[in-house]
Amino acid sequence: MISLKCPYCQVKLKVDETKLPKGLESFKCPKCKKEISVSLLSQKEVNSDLSDTVIINPTNIKTGHITVIADAQTPDQYFLLHEGIMTFGRKSSTSEITCPIVTTDKMMSRNHMTIEVKKDSKGTYKHYLSDNNSKNRTLYNNNYLEAGEIVILHDNDEIVLGRTTLRFNV
Ligand SMILES: [Zn+2]
Repeated sequence: MISLKCPYCQVKLKVDETKLPKGLESFKCPKCKKEISVSLLSQKEVNSDLSDTVIINPTNIKTGHITVIADAQTPDQYFLLHEGIMTFGRKSSTSEITCPIVTTDKMMSRNHMTIEVKKDSKGTYKHYLSDNNSKNRTLYNNNYLEAGEIVILHDNDEIVLGRTTLRFNV
């Protein structure tokens, strides 16, 4: 267990570092809902007064992430998913998407796909993938998504936008 203070609202947090999802870069403060970088966990706070400690429940923060696999046209990139609607596509000056991917892959649309992250009735995050009527469609585990089709993502799923490969992990 690591104890630290939220840098934004100063609430004391206790984190079981062994239960943090692999590859997690930040987590939400349960009180002020701001993103706290995982790197802060290495700065152990020596403070014995933990009376108002909030224990972070790792199951509540287990949203997935998307890794963009590097190739000649694209550097490797990482997007931590959070609750709500996240849109992906090729980064451009007019991008209005939440997750712009830096690439010269012109086969990737500027607004290519959506991942919606929602909690189910058991409080577990589910990740719903759909195509945004992209010109070259979204390839999901080697099958093109149909218009209006929504699939639930699972660990290690592969998504191809244009010629660029993305991997989903939880
Ligand atoms: Zn906070």
